[in-house]
Order: sequence, then structure tokens, then C-alpha cells
Amino acid sequence: MTARIDHDALFIDGGWTPPRTDGRTSVVSPLTEQEIGSFPTSTDADVDAAVSSARAALRRDDWAGLTPETRARLVRRFADELEKRAEERATTVTRQNGMPVELARFAEGAAPVQLLRYYADLAESTPLEERRASQPMPGTTIVRREPVGVVAAIAPWNFPAVLSMFKIAPALAAGCTVVLKPSPETTLDSYVLAEAAIAAELPAGVINIVTGGPDVGQYLVAHPGVDKVAFTGSTAAGRHIGRVCGELLRPATLELGGKSAALVLDDADVERTVTGLSTASLLNSGQTCYMSTRILVPRSQSRAYVDAITAMASSLPVGDPMDPATFIGPMVSAAQRDRVLSLIDQGRAEGGTITTGGGRVNGVGYFVQPTVFADVDNASTIARQEVFGPVLSVIAYDDVDDAVALANDSEYGLGGTVWTSDEERGIGVARRVETGSFGVNTFNLDWGSPFGGVKASGLGRELGPEGLAAYQQLKSIFLAS
Ligand code: NAD
Repeated sequence: MTARIDHDALFIDGGWTPPRTDGRTSVVSPLTEQEIGSFPTSTDADVDAAVSSARAALRRDDWAGLTPETRARLVRRFADELEKRAEERATTVTRQNGMPVELARFAEGAAPVQLLRYYADLAESTPLEERRASQPMPGTTIVRREPVGVVAAIAPWNFPAVLSMFKIAPALAAGCTVVLKPSPETTLDSYVLAEAAIAAELPAGVINIVTGGPDVGQYLVAHPGVDKVAFTGSTAAGRHIGRVCGELLRPATLELGGKSAALVLDDADVERTVTGLSTASLLNSGQTCYMSTRILVPRSQSRAYVDAITAMASSLPVGDPMDPATFIGPMVSAAQRDRVLSLIDQGRAEGGTITTGGGRVNGVGYFVQPTVFADVDNASTIARQEVFGPVLSVIAYDDVDDAVALANDSEYGLGGTVWTSDEERGIGVARRVETGSFGVNTFNLDWGSPFGGVKASGLGRELGPEGLAAYQQLKSIFLAS
């Protein structure tokens, strides 16, 4: 029996602050369906306190006013403290959202530390001022990068630690201060982040954490003390936040949903492709935004691929996410499981053929069987809506032009992959797909390169130097000489 995790305070202004309410939120294990912990739910007054602490920290000269080198040193100290707690953070995430623990050890334990170090190095090596010869009048212009200000960072439950850090690391490195709002399903691990910030002696107010659901998020997004919003989550919430930020003329980065395609070319090796697809299409039990869940296969090889994908999906170990052998854990919540099952039912009702899975796993835990739909029509609901579970659709195509057209026939444009024995041919296909990121025989995010979506998958980019620039605003200073 693992101990419960209960917190009584909020991390605001550099320390533990009593909440201004008795309201609490419980966290339920997706494996046991039992409560595993709880935390106070922030009120508007708590959000006000967090934002005003972040604003005050921005005005003092112990953060935004530091040299990039000094700030980088503090960010590295924060990384060191987080690294000491990486295992605790990773397992706390697994207990909350059911992420297979080996994945959590990398994505939720190690990766946030790597991101802090990456952005500390990058901020140190990126000049804050550049001089340009003016035109058409003679003179010089200093182009200066300044921190954008107080950042509202809102994270989803699927990769809570690393997706928060996509925002926190570049924001801190740029000299911004942050108010983080994690998802209510995955707030407990953010207390580990707070403990690392305290141990690293980050100045008060540089990071604050408010807790709660969409109401708290909405109040934070529209808060007059916020200068920028960085959001990862559903397209529906992203549209709402985009509308609010548009009215306020407040910059926003929106990382939203996806329905990406895997284009399997006729020269691909079946076995290697299907092995690659297990992670490119089903990572984190399918609860990953950039999954290639529409698998486009040559019509002449359709039967062979349906058989191989069915065999792969039905052989994936489903079970306790704390077991390192598990590949498919439970869905994060009963609501998410029911959403996935209802989309499967809709696929069935529209005449879809299920070759494996298609239901829940009997017993305790919010499990859904890995499910494959064969001979799917790209116009059907199962091919158009983001499922966010272990559900794949195999769609046959006639030639490469047809495959590219099918890939692009989607509301979304976040990820995608091509599988081929000819890398150059794969790169040619990659250039034609309407998406923010794409993999040739793989899909691996790169801390040094931008990530984000086109169409309904979002606005703006995170990661890479572009991700740092998103937390800087430009000022031009014109000189007569
Ligand atoms: P969600 O939109 O329901 O919630 C995300 C976060 O936003 C939560 O913290 C929630 O409390 C908050 N929130 C919800 N509505 C809000 C509003 N109107 N204003 C302010 N805050 C609000 O998403 P989710 O169910 O937690 O996450 C799953 C979704 O996230 C999927 O659609 C997935 O594709 C997407 N996602 C995208 C990326 C990406 O990088 N593009 C990465 C991971 C997940």
C-alpha cells in the first residue's frame, strides 16, 4: 500500500501559503479507482496573490534584472534540485494518470531537468542586444530582447511535468515569472516542483502554483496582471483562451489536439514499421497529442498491414503502470475511459470493422483494450475526432498523392510520420504534409527544434530557440549615430 499524498497549502510567493478556502480537490488512482490524495482548490483570491507575487518578482531586480549568466546559474540549481526528486515526480505522475512508469521516468522525471539545463545554456549564449545599421536614414538601431512579463502556464494531465516545463524553462531563462496551473487530475506532482524551487532558493514569486479546474484557469487567463498565456490542452479550451486573449491583445501560445497520420509507403518493411508504430501511435496508452493514429497503408498491402497491426496491438502488455513491463496503462479517469469507449461505439455504429479490442478490460481500473479499426473511411467519426486512447484506424490509399491528400484531410495538423526504406522519399512526403512536426521512420521530439501545430492544433511554437523567443519581446532603440 503506497502512502496517500495530501497537501494543505499552496505554493505562492516562494513558500507554503494557507489557502483562502476550505475547498479541496481529491485525486483518484486510475488503477485502483481509490482516492490517493488531495490538495486545496485555489480561489480567485489565491490567484490574485499568485499573480501579484509574480508581478512583484518581475519588478524587483533579483530576477528579470539579473544578467542571463546569473539567472542561468539559478536555473541550473533548480534543475539539480529537481533531478534529486526525479523518481518521486515520475512515480507521482504514474500514480495520478496511469502513465507507464518507464515512460514517466524519462518524460516526467528526466526530461524537465534536461529542459531547464537546455534553456539555461541557450539564454546564456543568446545575446540580448544586437546593433544594426539603420536604413534609409544613417544611424544605428539597438534591437533588444526583454522578458515578456508574467506568464500564465496552463498544463494538461497527460504529460503534466514535461509540458509544464516546455513553458517554465524558457520563461524563467528569459527573465519572466510564472503562475502555473496544473490539471486537477495531476496536481500532486507539482508540489515536488515547488519543493525543488524552495530548495534551489529561487527568488520569491518567480514560480507560483495555483490549483483547480477550468474556472481557475479562466480567471488566470483573463487576469489583468498576466502578460502572456502558454496553454497546452484541448482544442475546445484553446479556442476559448484564444478568444479571451484576442480581446485583451495578450500573446498566447496554444498547443492543442491532433489526429495525425502515419503514411506507410509501399517500400516500407512491414515488421519494422509496425514495431515503430507501437510507440508512434500508442505512447502513453494513446494519451499523447501527436500520435499517428490514422495509419495510411497501400491498398495492395492493406490485408498484411491490418494483420500485423492487429497482432502488435493485441500483444501489448496491459496492466499496472508501476510494472516496468506495462505498455498500456489505464485511462486517466472514468470520464476519459467512457469518452474513448463512446467513440469506439460510434465507430462500430458507423459500420467500422474492429479486428482487436473494442471494449473495456474487466475488473478494477479505467482500462480500455488496445483497439484496431480496419478499412476505415477517412470521413468517419473515428478518423476525424481525436480519441486520446489506444485506438488505431487503418485507412487504405491508392498512391502517394492520395495518401498525402488523406493525411491533409483533417481539421488538425500537429504530428505525423512516414515509414519507408528510402529516407529521401520520406523527406519528400514530409514536405507535403500540413503539420507542425513530422517524423521519418520515427517520431522523437527534439529540445532544440520547434514543436507546435497548424490548423486546429494550435498557434505558436514551444522548444528550441523559437521557444525562448516566445518569452521575449523586442524593443528597437534608434540612435542618431
Ligand atoms: P483540457 O483542455 O480539458 O485542459 C487542459 C488544462 O486547461 C487543464 O489544466 C484545465 O483545467 C485547463 N482549462 C480547461 N478549460 C480552460 C479554459 N477555458 N480556460 C483556462 N483553462 C482551462 O485538456 P486535457 O483533457 O487536460 O488534455 C488533453 C488535451 O490536450 C488533448 O486534446 C490533447 O491533444 C491536448 N494536448 C496537446 C498537446 C500539444 O502539445 N499540442 C500536448 C498534450 C496534450
